[in-house]
Amino acid sequence: MTLSVGAYVKGGVELDQIAVEGIRVTGYHGVLATERESGQLFIADIVAHVSTQAAATTDQLARTVNYSDLADAVAEVLAGDPSDLLETVAEHCARAVLEFEGVECVDVAIHKPQAPLHVEFADVIVRIRRDLRSGTLWADKRIGSSAGMSDDPLEQPAIFRDAFDERPFQPVTAWIALGGNLGEVERTLRAAVRELDRVSGIHVVATSALVKSAPVGGPEQPDYLNAVVQIETALAPRELLAACQGVEVVHGRERSVVNGPRTLDLDIISIAGVTGESADLVLPHPRAHERAFVLVPLGDVDADAVLPGANGGAVSDLLARVDVESVSVVAKPWPSGAEPTPLGTDAVPVVDGPDFT
Ligand code: ADP
Ligand code: MG
Repeated sequence: MTLSVGAYVKGGVELDQIAVEGIRVTGYHGVLATERESGQLFIADIVAHVSTQAAATTDQLARTVNYSDLADAVAEVLAGDPSDLLETVAEHCARAVLEFEGVECVDVAIHKPQAPLHVEFADVIVRIRRDLRSGTLWADKRIGSSAGMSDDPLEQPAIFRDAFDERPFQPVTAWIALGGNLGEVERTLRAAVRELDRVSGIHVVATSALVKSAPVGGPEQPDYLNAVVQIETALAPRELLAACQGVEVVHGRERSVVNGPRTLDLDIISIAGVTGESADLVLPHPRAHERAFVLVPLGDVDADAVLPGANGGAVSDLLARVDVESVSVVAKPWPSGAEPTPLGTDAVPVVDGPDFT
């Protein structure tokens, strides 16, 4: 059984593939009570699309993706919390693989050869391909977040096509606000910055200081860590939103409670003077101008930043109108120094300064 998948091309270059086939685990996925109780065999094949050149020339394990770790991560999903649908299991496996540094795209096939069918059959297989850019809205819809998606086609939002689908003539500057207050937040925010930079059409130019702030609204919840990244992007605004949501999904962002705690929230603050409003996107972000936890790191990453539109203005003027004391700097420069040692490897990659290329 060989999973043959098409090439994944990024920036005109075909990426290398690392495949692990036939990961066999007993799992409890399915809609029937017997499936939940007795379990059955699930088999996963994965192909991670990566650039292996750096590892091959230096022969360093730390510089490539460790396929043993990949297999462990996928096996954990197969054996883990039961899902009704094979599609959901596949999505969760894809997320787990995309979390590995260096993986640009993943193909996943999940087999359920003992599925309870009424006819004789050889195998049931669900295959999906996900990358950080396109994995996104689909993943959200399938996993059934509260983002307003439903499986009823009549309830799907209309297919938008407006100025937010236009790519700029040349790359433009944009700012993205990152925040989170669940889990290992600092590590998640670092990973999010790297993942954004890996999306083709996005280049992270600079990162702000890492700041801390008390939650605004919503239920009682831990303090937030926030930062802002300045990027150059060739993407259309809606593509950039999809990329941000893709990175959120990889980190398990579930939108269940309004203003509730979250592992990762990525908001587009502004893209090069673009103003506009549609059902899925408002630019600049409608609350950026009044949020100290956005303006403080924005002013830090670019003291000359200007938000366009009626509520906009120079960041220095906007900062004068908010309570900057509500925000405290946790790390500057950020990210810098040694990262926490990733599980299962001895490598301690050092991220020095804000350049992620
Ligand atoms: P929060 O308001 O806490 O950031 P979400 O991240 O769940 O909440 O965002 C809710 C919705 O806001 C998203 O589904 C997205 O379509 C929409 N949205 C509108 N404008 C923006 C923007 N500038 N950046 C990010 N999301 C936006
Ligand atoms: Mg958001």
